[in-house]
This record gives sequence, structure tokens and C-alpha cells, in this order.
Amino acid sequence: MTRILIIGPPGSGKGTQAERISRRLDVVAISTGDIFRTNVKSETPLGVEAKKYMDAGDFVPDNVTNKMVRDRLSESDVEDGFLLDGYPRTTAQVDYLDEILADRNQSLDVVLQLTADDEELVARLLGRAKETGRSDDNEAVIRHRLDLYHEQTEAVVAKYAERGILTQIDGIGTMDEVTERAIKAGHSLLLP
Ligand code: AMP
Repeated sequence: MTRILIIGPPGSGKGTQAERISRRLDVVAISTGDIFRTNVKSETPLGVEAKKYMDAGDFVPDNVTNKMVRDRLSESDVEDGFLLDGYPRTTAQVDYLDEILADRNQSLDVVLQLTADDEELVARLLGRAKETGRSDDNEAVIRHRLDLYHEQTEAVVAKYAERGILTQIDGIGTMDEVTERAIKAGHSLLLP
């Protein structure tokens, strides 16, 4: 049973690595960004609400995001573990996730943090904007999302570091290199 969180600034390859790592470890990947984007595409009430924030590079409010995660974590496919991608991003979300897991006598096992330099991230995201046309990938929005990461999500990282379950992974390299680093780092925490 493995419960993992992958965390990293926008453009760090978090989504790609989440999919690769979850396949390798045979656990389901849950990406809050993907769930939001699916809802935006099909114009559900959740999607309409989330889009306002996503387009501006803001966080979707905790009450909306927390409920969505609670619902997702109540599905049966997470019973054997999961890899969370993109949640929690605020310390209030950490507390909420703690409560959900504590209700089941569970907790996170490992937090993988992908690291990369801000200017490298901006360059990558501007490249991705050209390829995918994601509406939250223009430079002003990208810089705002990076600021939010530093202002809010680094405090999340610090909380997990205090708990001794954080491992940092250099996010610069080929996709394969970063996946190997992550798997190795994860194993050394899971099987100390
Ligand atoms: P991501 O694909 O993880 O970069 O997420 C894309 C966007 O979805 C973010 O910029 C936020 O607007 C929203 N989002 C995803 N996860 C969260 C979260 N845990 N809390 C608030 N907003 C989120």
C-alpha cells in the first residue's frame, strides 16, 4: 500500500512524472488539475466555477477543491494506494487531507518534490503554450502561478519535510532520468 504525493512548480513535469511513476508502482494517479480540466471541457457546474480561477492562474478555492478530492478519495480504486498530483497546494489543504486520511487510519508515505529553476520553468511553459494552447500558459499567468507556488505551496513542502517524508528530485533532465531518480528516492523512503 503506497500513498504518494508529487509536488512541484508549474512546468516541472509533475503531471508527466505522476503518470509514469504511478504506472511503475501500480497505483492510481489523481491529478486535481486534470479533474478540473475535464470538468471545464464538459462545462459542468464545477468546471464553470473552476475555469474563472484557472484562466487567471489562481488557485480554485479550498472549499471547492477539498470537496472534489474527498469525493475522489472515496472511490474504491484508491484502496490499494494512490499518487496525488497537485493536491495539497495550500497548508489548509494539508490539514483537510490529513483529516480525510486520519478518518481511515491512513497517512501519506512519501512526498516527492520536483525542483527546477524559475527561469527554466518559464521557458518550458512558454514552449508548452505554443504546443497545447492551454489557456493558463501565457507569461503573466505563468509568473503568477510560480509566485503562488513560492508563496503558498512551499509552506506545504516544509510541513512534509518536518514529518520526514519529503524527498527532493532534480527535475532537470530527460523524462526517463527524472522518473528513475523519483523511483529511487521514493523507494529509499518507503523501504529504508
Ligand atoms: P495543474 O495541472 O496541477 O497545474 O493545475 C492547473 C490549475 O488547476 C491550477 O493552476 C489551479 O487553478 C487548479 N488547481 C489544481 N489543483 C489545485 C489545488 N490543489 N488547489 C487549488 N487549485 C488547484
